[in-house]
Amino acid sequence: MRVDAAPVSRAAEEVLRGAHLVAGSWDAGAGAREIERRDPARPCVRVGVVPVATDEVVDRAVRAADATAGGWGAWTPVARGRVVERLAGLVERDARRLAALVSREHGKPARDAREEVARATDVLRFAAGEGRRLGGRTLPADLPGTACLTTRVPIGVVALVTPWNFPLAIPAWKLGPAMVAGCPVVVKPSPLAPFSAQALVELASEAGAPAGAVGLVHGGGSTGSALVRHPLVAGVSFTGSVATGRSIAREATDRLARLQLEMGGKNAVVVEADADLGRAADAVVSGAFGQSGQRCSATSRLLVHEDVADRLVSLVRERAAALRVGPAQDETSDLGPLVDEASLERCVAAVERAARDGGRVVLGGGRVPGLAGWYMQPTVVVDLPPDAELATSEVFGPVLVVHRYRTFDEALALLDGVEYGMSAALFTHDLRTVGRFVAGARAGMLHVNRAGTGAFPHMPHVGTKASQHGAAECSPEAMDFYTEIRTVTLDLS
Ligand code: NAD
Repeated sequence: MRVDAAPVSRAAEEVLRGAHLVAGSWDAGAGAREIERRDPARPCVRVGVVPVATDEVVDRAVRAADATAGGWGAWTPVARGRVVERLAGLVERDARRLAALVSREHGKPARDAREEVARATDVLRFAAGEGRRLGGRTLPADLPGTACLTTRVPIGVVALVTPWNFPLAIPAWKLGPAMVAGCPVVVKPSPLAPFSAQALVELASEAGAPAGAVGLVHGGGSTGSALVRHPLVAGVSFTGSVATGRSIAREATDRLARLQLEMGGKNAVVVEADADLGRAADAVVSGAFGQSGQRCSATSRLLVHEDVADRLVSLVRERAAALRVGPAQDETSDLGPLVDEASLERCVAAVERAARDGGRVVLGGGRVPGLAGWYMQPTVVVDLPPDAELATSEVFGPVLVVHRYRTFDEALALLDGVEYGMSAALFTHDLRTVGRFVAGARAGMLHVNRAGTGAFPHMPHVGTKASQHGAAECSPEAMDFYTEIRTVTLDLS
């Protein structure tokens, strides 16, 4: 079942229909409760509808996946890697269709959607190559005529529970390593952007994944929870909010399921007095407002040395005010709408509360007037106490909070003054300060003299504190989640 083979112009008029993939067959979930997705740029237009998987559907999908575990696990990692390589090629072949789908269901500008498809291709290609590198270690034995080594085996069925903000790339960067490792999976995408993941799963079947080894169920939290609680699910790879991650941890920990939880952020860019302020302003604006701030690595705090604070804030305001907010399909849009009405209301209300907490809104602060979609203005708030709600909680919208500091110690303390630890960036020319930042910043992904966003397929995608629990994603480290170690001791005498 192809999710959307229509060209972009027609696609906007067709209502997409989601289906579960269970034991290699598409199941439209006739008679089931449905969740509707509306176009974030034109909320009166329906994008599509997905059926909600009941516990019974989830059970069938997991059992079907489990039934393939022996056979799929017995393929060599190199052979499974070839399937993933073919999948990467299919994503590349369908890049235009997939980018249109990502834009349409998420609302992100066409340029960002194309980048997302390219990133999905890259992470799949990297994962495919891991099939040839999935080795163990040889170790010296303390006995004569004895050899010791380790091997890796798949952990079993894995639930891949994904968010809406990278609806293709995040499912891809979980699916690729899972397939290479030999773990059958059941994907549960967000109902706010479910069709890109469905298209990916469809392509995985076309690439040669055995029937049942890659399943998909649609639905919201209750479907996700049924999947996480299923006794045959050996591991859960989740990306989403801290609250959901904590709930999954509670449900899966008791039966000792393996967890990989990638969660939220409240990321800071630190700008020292000697920094190139033009570069820093560009990086802050792209990090804070790109994809309307709906990235786990989005820059939501600017920590700036007091000597250059006024100049930097005015550069950021100038650049942010020039951003074009508009629909995804308009090539000139820099920012699209937020994902739904609730997110827009939450972000606007958070800025209003910040103003009551002592913050001064120096740019934006509300809905974009004259646009019917869920658009929010790029927003900058200064003078907010560092312990205020907006200064410490993830808002997941185009909202930047600015704090001034006097010493680098103060900057590090501000950086660490939140529960999250996803990414952080520093602008300076002083190598000693770089050294202190790398040693002292409590965030998983550190950037120096560049934006706090962006990642490479061969680098771990990782956070610390409440942003991350379990092994990193992407990179060879992803295999630490999808495989477990066997030690083998051979008596060769
Ligand atoms: P969310 O936590 O609301 O939902 C994520 C997924 O979990 C969805 O598929 C949802 O249906 C499912 N879910 C909800 N309740 C569940 C439950 N009780 N049991 C099992 N599954 C459940 O997150 P979201 O709004 O889709 O995504 C935004 C969040 O994701 C932000 O906090 C963002 O920072 C985070 N995020 C993190 C990363 C990362 O790599 N760390 C990347 C992207 C997004």
